[in-house]
Amino acid sequence: MPALLTTPRPQHLHLPGDADFDAARAAWNVAVDQRPAAVAVPADSAQVADVVRDAVRAGLRVAPQSTGHNAGPLAAHGLDDTVLLRTHLLDSVHVDPVARIARVGGGVVWQPVVEAAAQHGLAALHGSSPDVGVAGYSLGGGIGWYARSLGMAAHSLTAAEVVTADGSVVRTDAHHEPELFWALRGGGGGFGVVTSLEFRLYPVETAFAGFMLWDAVHAEALLRAWSDWAPAAPDEVTTSFRVLRLPPMPELPPFLRGRHVVVIDGAVLADDESARRILAPLRAVAPEVDTFGRVPAAALTRLHMDPEGPTPGVSDAAILDALPAAAIDAFLSRTVAGTTSPLLAAELRQLGGALGRPDASAALSRLDGQFLAFGVAIAATPQMATAGHAAAADLVGALRATTGHRPYLNFAEDPVDASTAFDATSARRLAQVRAAIDSTGVFVANHRF
Ligand SMILES: Cc1cc2nc3c(=O)[nH]c(=O)nc-3n(C[C@H](O)[C@H](O)[C@H](O)COP(=O)(O)OP(=O)(O)OC[C@H]3O[C@@H](n4cnc5c(N)ncnc54)[C@H](O)[C@@H]3O)c2cc1C
Repeated sequence: MPALLTTPRPQHLHLPGDADFDAARAAWNVAVDQRPAAVAVPADSAQVADVVRDAVRAGLRVAPQSTGHNAGPLAAHGLDDTVLLRTHLLDSVHVDPVARIARVGGGVVWQPVVEAAAQHGLAALHGSSPDVGVAGYSLGGGIGWYARSLGMAAHSLTAAEVVTADGSVVRTDAHHEPELFWALRGGGGGFGVVTSLEFRLYPVETAFAGFMLWDAVHAEALLRAWSDWAPAAPDEVTTSFRVLRLPPMPELPPFLRGRHVVVIDGAVLADDESARRILAPLRAVAPEVDTFGRVPAAALTRLHMDPEGPTPGVSDAAILDALPAAAIDAFLSRTVAGTTSPLLAAELRQLGGALGRPDASAALSRLDGQFLAFGVAIAATPQMATAGHAAAADLVGALRATTGHRPYLNFAEDPVDASTAFDATSARRLAQVRAAIDSTGVFVANHRF
C-alpha cells in the first residue's frame, strides 16, 4: 500500500505490525477478529476525505465503522484489501431545542445524545443499548422503545454529511442529493462515510416503562398471553418478550443471579391511566417483579440491561410475519424450564404500529412483520461461539420455518443478501444509487447487495 505510507505518515493511520494495531482494529463485538489492511482514525471530515483518497490511490477499499457492534458480517468477507475507517473521534453532539433537531458526529453513541436531548425535555429514537452507534443504527433502520408509536430512527433522519468515493464532502437532505438521502434512510452504510447526522427529537420527557419478571416455569402461559396481546396492542406501547438464562454473576442482583426467567419490558407513551389499561392483560399474569411506572425518558437506554463496552456475542435473528401455534411450540421447546441451551436470551420484539406503515421517502420503507426474533449467546471462547451460534441458528431457523420471514439488517450478525431486506423496487433503486455514487465499489458495508 505505497500511497498510504506517505511521508510524514498520518498520525491517524495504524498498520499491521504497529504496537497499537490490535487495539485499533478491535470491534465492540470482541468475538469478531477483523483484520483489515490498515486502520484509520480520522478526527474530522477533511481527514476522512484524505483517508478515502489515499485508500483509492493505493487500490484499497474503505469500510466505515463507528463501534463494531455489527462487525460480524463485515469481517466475514475478509478485509485484506480494506482500510477500516473508525469514526469514534467524530464525537460532537449538538441539540437545537427550538428546531427539535440533534446534529451529531458520525462516531457518536446513543447515551450522550439521549442525555443532551433530555436537558431540553426531548427524546431521540435510540435503541435498547446506550453504546450502539447512532450512525450504524440509524442507517440500518433503528428500532427502540418508541418504535411502534414514532417509527424507525431512519425515518427521523433529516440530513447527513457524507464523504463520497472521490473524497468530496456532501451534505444531503430531502432537497440536496435526494437519492442519496433516500438511500441513507435505512439502506445501510455502503454509500460513503457519514461524518455527521441530523435527526428529529420528540417532546418526550417521561414514559410509563419498566419490566415484569416471572420464573421460566411460566414461559408457556406468558408467551401465549403476550403473543395474543402484542399484534393488536395500541401503537403507544412497544415491548420485548425474553427468556433469559442469567449467569451466576456477582454483578447481578440476587433475584436475577443464575436464574432462568421470562422478562417482558417496554415503554408506553401515554398517560398513567391509559398505560395501566394497555398493560393490564400482561400484569394479570401475576409477575414476581413489576417495575412499570413513570420514569424519565433518559432512563430507557438501560431498561433492557444490554451489555456495555466490548462484549463477545453470537446471534441469529429474523422478522416474522406472525407467531403461529407451530412457532410458539418451536420457541417453547427450546427455552422452557427443563431445557438446556447456551443462549443467554431468546427474544421476540413487538413490531407493528408505526413500524409497519410505509414511508416512501426512506429506502427501508417499513418493517413488514409482527415480531422480530433474536437469539444471542455469549462467546467468550471459540467453543462457546460455536455452540451459541448453533443454538441461535436452531431457534431462529425453527421460527422461520413456520411463517413468512425476512432479515432486519441491524440484527443480522452473519452475512445475508441485503437485497432480501427490501422490496424489489427499493433493492433495485439502492443498487442504482450505489452505482451512481460509488461506481468502483470503494465502500464496504457490513451488509452487501
Ligand atoms: C447490544 C446490542 C443492542 C442492540 N440494540 C438494538 C436496538 O435496540 N435496535 C436496533 O435497531 N438495533 C439494535 N442493535 C443493532 C445495531 O443497531 C447494529 O448492530 C448497528 O449496525 C450498530 O451500529 P454501530 O454503528 O454501533 O455498529 P458498526 O458495526 O460500527 O456499524 C455497522 C455498519 O454501519 C455502517 N456505519 C457505521 N457507522 C458509519 C458511518 N459513520 N458512516 C457510514 N457507515 C457507517 C457500516 O456499514 C458498518 O459496517 C443492537 C446491537 C447490539 C450488539
